[in-house]
Amino acid sequence: MSHEVIEQAKPLSWRPVTESSALSAVPSSARDAVLKFYFGPMDCGKSTLALQMNYNHGRQGRRGLVLTKHDRSGGPKVTSRIGLGLEAIEVHDSLDVVRLVTGVRDRVDYLICDEACFYTVEQIEQLADLVDEHGVDVYAFGLASDFRSVMFPAAQRLFELADEVCRLQVEVLCWCGRPGQLNARIVGGAMVRTGEQVVIGDTDASPVRYQVLCRRHHRSGLLGEGSPN
Ligand SMILES: [Zn+2]
Repeated sequence: MSHEVIEQAKPLSWRPVTESSALSAVPSSARDAVLKFYFGPMDCGKSTLALQMNYNHGRQGRRGLVLTKHDRSGGPKVTSRIGLGLEAIEVHDSLDVVRLVTGVRDRVDYLICDEACFYTVEQIEQLADLVDEHGVDVYAFGLASDFRSVMFPAAQRLFELADEVCRLQVEVLCWCGRPGQLNARIVGGAMVRTGEQVVIGDTDASPVRYQVLCRRHHRSGLLGEGSPN
């Protein structure tokens, strides 16, 4: 087959694929809806990306809802450590996400689900239903694993069901300089390995705080000199 034949066989409507990134908003009518899960340790910019993605989709005229659970602000908001914030719907354990979305008068094109690791497994399955049955794009953000380095049930379900899973690349460093991958729970200055899976920390009222460590130091429990208690 000669080179010319290949050239002629190219469809007339052929166009180069448009540049797109994780943040570009693609009209949902052009493709199937997607379930994406973005995960990473604390401080890797998950909530910042969630807010940026909501902004980008909204600017394209798409309508979305922003959901969260146990945000660091303590209220129904998505707040990022670099100071951005947005009102959001708090996802209580009894919330049916499909009913929430289908009950909204205007069409919902997408959902931003922050702190999705704290949702129930059933709610993660409802997110998949929204994608498949209602054509809603779902962008979920959260931790993969808890302070013991054990995966959250909701995160595991997202790994199982999502069309795409992305480890966020904003680098968080352990005190030793290695990439931070795991969250440690610190109580009274020492790392703990047992306890409830979800305990809110890093607030004035709580004796619990969390620190991102590399795998080596998560396993050894060494917190480094000068770590705040
Ligand atoms: Zn380390």
